[in-house]
Parts: sequence; C-alpha cells; structure tokens
Amino acid sequence: MMTSAAASEHYRQLCELKRESATLGAVGSLLSWDQETYMPNAASDNRAEQSAVLAGLVHERETSKRVGDLLAACEADKSLQADARLAANIREMRRDYDLATKLPPELVKELAEVGSKSQHVWKDARAKSDFSIFKPWLEKMVALTRRKAECYGAPKGGELYDALLNEYEPDARAGEIEKVFGPLRGRLSGLIGDLAKGKGPSEAPLGVKVEADRQHRLGLRVIKALGFDFDAGRLDVTTHPFCSGFGPGDTRLTTRYREERWTDALFGTMHECGHGLYEQGLPKSTLFGQPLARDAGLGIHESQSRMWENFVGRSRAFWEWALPVVNEEFGGALAKFSVDDVYRSVNTAKPSLIRVEADEATYNLHVMLRFGIERAMFNGQLKVSDVPGEWNAGFKDYLGIDVPSDAKGCLQDVHWSFGLFGYFATYALGNLYAAQLWEKINHDIPALQEQIRRGQFGELLAWLRKNIHSAGRQFKAADLCQRVTGRPLGADPLLRHLEGKLRPIYGV
Ligand code: ZN
Repeated sequence: MMTSAAASEHYRQLCELKRESATLGAVGSLLSWDQETYMPNAASDNRAEQSAVLAGLVHERETSKRVGDLLAACEADKSLQADARLAANIREMRRDYDLATKLPPELVKELAEVGSKSQHVWKDARAKSDFSIFKPWLEKMVALTRRKAECYGAPKGGELYDALLNEYEPDARAGEIEKVFGPLRGRLSGLIGDLAKGKGPSEAPLGVKVEADRQHRLGLRVIKALGFDFDAGRLDVTTHPFCSGFGPGDTRLTTRYREERWTDALFGTMHECGHGLYEQGLPKSTLFGQPLARDAGLGIHESQSRMWENFVGRSRAFWEWALPVVNEEFGGALAKFSVDDVYRSVNTAKPSLIRVEADEATYNLHVMLRFGIERAMFNGQLKVSDVPGEWNAGFKDYLGIDVPSDAKGCLQDVHWSFGLFGYFATYALGNLYAAQLWEKINHDIPALQEQIRRGQFGELLAWLRKNIHSAGRQFKAADLCQRVTGRPLGADPLLRHLEGKLRPIYGV
C-alpha cells in the first residue's frame, strides 16, 4: 500500500518531469520559429542537427521508464483520481505516454524516411499534374500509416481510422464526426447551389493595392484591439503563417503580405491571433508542461482562430469599427467604399478548386471530401489507385464543378505525402465548434454586436478565457462543447450562421 503523501510526491515529480520535457520542446519550437523568420540560409544544416538532437532528448525523456513508473503510481492513487482536474491531467499524460511509446522505433524511422522521399515525389507529381507518379508512394504511406494505426489500436467500438484522428483530436470517432458532417454536407451543397443563382458582391474593395508596411501597421493595431498581449508575444513575417505558443509569456504569430490583396493578411493575422489568444489564455504560468495547460485538441484550437477571423472579422459590426481604422492606416485608400461594400466583398462565397483559397462556406466541403476519402482508404473501401476518380466525382457532387487536373485536384495538399492522415477533419470541426460557441456567446453577452461595432472585444475575450482557455485539456473537445453550450456538437449553428449571412448578401 502506498500512502497518499507518497503518491502526491509521485505526482509532483511527474509534473516536474513533464515541465522539463515541455521546456526542451519549447526550445525546439523556438528554433523552428527562428528558422522560419530570421535564420540565415547557410545555417540550415546546423539547425537541422540542433533540432534533431533536441527532438531526440525530448522523446527520450517523454518515453522514459521513470515517467511510466510515476504515471502508474499516480493512476493507482485514489486520492488523485478523486480530484477531477488532477484525474484529467493524469488521463492525458497517459494518452501522451501511450502515443509516444506504442510505436516501434523502426516504424517511426521508416515513416520519417519514406515520408520525406514521398513528399519529394509528390512535389514532382504535382508539378507534372500526374497522379500515377505519386501513386506508389501514397500506397507506401497508407500502408505504413495503417501499421501505425494498428500499433495504437482501434478504440473499443470504433474503427482503425479513429486511432489516427486521436493524434490530433483526442478520442474523436469518425462515426460521430460523420453524424455532424452528413447533414452539413447536404445543406451546404444546397446553399452553395442557391448562391450561384444569386448576385454576388463586387470584389472591388479587395483589389485595392496596399504596401506591406501599411498592412503590417493595420494588423498590429487590429490584434492589439482584439486583446493580443504584445508584452507576451510578437508578430513577424513568414512564407507560411503560423502561431507558436512556446511557454509562459511567449506566443509568436507570423503572417504574410500580398500587396494586391490586403484582406489576405488581415484575416490571416486575425486567424493566427485567435490561436495566439488561446495560447496566452492557457494556464501556463503555473501548470506549464501539464495537459491542463494545453489546448483541448486541434478542433478547439481552430475554433478560436476561426471565431476571430470569420465570426468577428467577417461581421458587419466589425467593419463599422474597422473601416475607419483601415482608412486611417491606408491613407484613405478605401474612402470610396461603404461599410456595406466591404462587408459584402469579404463574404464572397463561390466554389473553387483549391482548399486553401476557399471561402468560409465552401471550405467545409473541401475538408469533408478529404475526410471521406481518408476514412474509406483506411477502412479498406477505397484503393489508392481509385483516389483521383473518387476525388473528382466527390468534388462535382459537393461543389458542382469539374476538376481539370490532378494538380488542382487530389494532388493539391502536402498532407498525405508525409503521412498526415486524420488531420483535415479538425479544420471543419473548428468551424463547427466556433459556430456553436458563437451562438452561446451572443446569448450570454446580449450587447456583443454593439461592443464589436465600437471596437470593444474585452468581454468576448473574457468569456473565452473563462469558458474555454482556462480549462486547458481537462475535457475532451466534445465534452467541453456539451458543458459550455449545453448540447453536443451539431451542424445547425454553422448552417444558421452561413445561411443567415450569405442568403441576404446574395439575395437568395
Ligand atoms: Zn488555424
């Protein structure tokens, strides 16, 4: 028998080890951030070496027998298990430990090596728009990833593909996700079809040319107003925008500027800021390294970025505040446009071929197509050789347009080439969670739209801090949604949001 005092000592030691691993991990992330922003070109070999050494150290610590023993001792301790927050912390540490230890090192190595070659081949295949070049490599990656999923094991009552989803969205089940995606797909396709018959907004306000430094000043001003803490974060420029929350007091955002479309950077920056506000709101100062100070999964993380980008940033109320600010920063470049002009133009929605360029409404259909194909591949219902055909037929069915080439079809995303299966779903889940939370927030803060109109975002951020950010990973995303909104995740809030906004704009 173990005394409770001894067990809480186990818990303390376990948390200390987790904090050390997380600190090493954060140093690795800082190296990656530097690599994307300021590192001189010639440093790349050395940086690769630095990153590999650090990643090895983190893995060694995370998978050590000592962590396993401490974890087992904590799991056996009834007093710890009686405390809901501590029990959740231990449950998630177990999940991390299993994910890190269940794969044989040879498989990890093979996935990395084949993935790197496969990514190379994918680039070539995409350039030549020829799926047949990539096909044998995709077959290899699917086979290796299937082995990975088998090592993790299908959850009880679930399917093999769930083991892959679980890496990004803890405990997610494809069957549950499909229950939400199914109705979303049908009604969204209908909505897109209707919009095509309506009169779309003029995109003229989007085409005003604006220099990058003016755009940068605007971005800084807007995210400062949203509540991003610049004493604990930065905004820099990269080719691929991202957000990295390293540790207490350090959250970095990046963005990119296209002079011919200023809204790309503005919405991109607001998106990353949403991730950053979440990172800044996690209780890292005391619990860094513990699951309680981590995000609840990629779906909830994405819900935070989409909320600020789309539910705030593409609302009419936001533009009443933002248009004068934009004109101040851009020297009156948009003076001839009204709030309505800009509001309507940033809500243009029409089917297009490329996911990353898709609008708020059609984006979800791009994601659901990939989710269905991945799931069918891992359930053995779809052969890799049939992917292009399935893709093109699905695309026509969902979005009503013909795919002219593999490059603009099933070869467009890098994800599958290095084995990222199970990830896409989190993008659409983010939109769904954001919509459901947004309805609840508007219910809880009746003056919210009025506040946004005045550029006041403090009460919204405080709500998110209290209900989402401070919980960390205590609850699974699905449970968090149920607790906060009082119902399970559904498709209706997102559909209400999109239909309520887009039908009037398109007059359909
Ligand atoms: Zn994001």
